[in-house]
Amino acid sequence: MSNNPLLPANIDALAAYSSAKSEKLTGTTWLNANESPYVKNIDINISDLNRYPDPQPASVINRYADYAQLSADQVLMTRGADEGIELLVRTYCESTKDSIALFLPTYGMYKVTADTHNVAINGLSQALLLDGSVDDIITAVGNSKLVFICNPNNPTGSLTPLDKIKAIATALTDKALVIVDEAYIEFCPEQSASSLINQFANVVVLRTLSKAFALAGLRTGFTLAQASVLAPIRKVIAPYPVSTVVASIAANALSPDAITSMRRQVTILNALKIKLKQWLSASPAVLNVLSGEGNFVTLKLADKNSFKIALKQGLVMRAFTLYGENDWLRISIGNEQELEQVKVWLDGLSQSTTQKEQEVS
Ligand SMILES: *Cc1c(COP(=O)(O)O)cnc(C)c1O
Repeated sequence: MSNNPLLPANIDALAAYSSAKSEKLTGTTWLNANESPYVKNIDINISDLNRYPDPQPASVINRYADYAQLSADQVLMTRGADEGIELLVRTYCESTKDSIALFLPTYGMYKVTADTHNVAINGLSQALLLDGSVDDIITAVGNSKLVFICNPNNPTGSLTPLDKIKAIATALTDKALVIVDEAYIEFCPEQSASSLINQFANVVVLRTLSKAFALAGLRTGFTLAQASVLAPIRKVIAPYPVSTVVASIAANALSPDAITSMRRQVTILNALKIKLKQWLSASPAVLNVLSGEGNFVTLKLADKNSFKIALKQGLVMRAFTLYGENDWLRISIGNEQELEQVKVWLDGLSQSTTQKEQEVS
């Protein structure tokens, strides 16, 4: 606790959020933040920066609505999906009174956001979400206002079937918003819950341009829901959340040609993921590989020290504590050359593992 008498207790108690990028690491191969390896070269020519931007740029909203097969009033553009999470908590939860439900292990921003707004966490497990009955899930959700389902889940890659999401939304009608975080849905588009939006007033879908669309630096996301769900959020969001520059780049990224090119990249990355999974499964340095649907693979190392060996080789991946064990690692799917660095690291590890076995025998 600090000695600052001005700080509310919940803010004083916050741990600094440690994102993949906030850790000061050095390296040459960056596979720690689930970014796309594809670099866009962008030319922009903007002449009206003396004017305030359109609060919700129509060119972007219309293109995203087409892409998501929704109407324009069902699309809200935000500064990343992260801002969508924050707006949902700020709009729908009452401080010190309401709670949000989440299924651990999962994306860290739900808890960070709830903590900053003095909203309680109802921490449930991925096992309950995936293997539990809908009745058990609804009982455990209790009176939580928001239910966050990360699908596919970061960092485990697991998928909650659409039927289950539908059953949960049905049971929670008028009781809670079911928020499906689809940051990685482009890697398995047939699993999207966006088709439930017209049918369910309590289904919200979060999307981003940061992953498959290769624009993490742009800070653009979308909150998708029925117009009546978005209306109060539109009162809470900052007046000019999207800069003219960002709107121009986002509109280009959502042109039909750009979407085709994104889908082509996704096909390549999904194929590389299969190759990486095979290498990992065959490696004696890896104990467990979580079969993931996103642009990443999560695994348990036989020896936590292998992570440090990778860092020495300039290979940066994301270390995780999962299930109380601090020897998990998440590898983002990079390009072929980047994954070759992972192979070099793995080959080095299995050599030293074999040597150790020989020394023992
Ligand atoms: C990366 C990620 C986000 C954040 O997306 P931004 O649009 O970059 O804010 C949200 N949810 C999940 C599950 C993510 O992995």
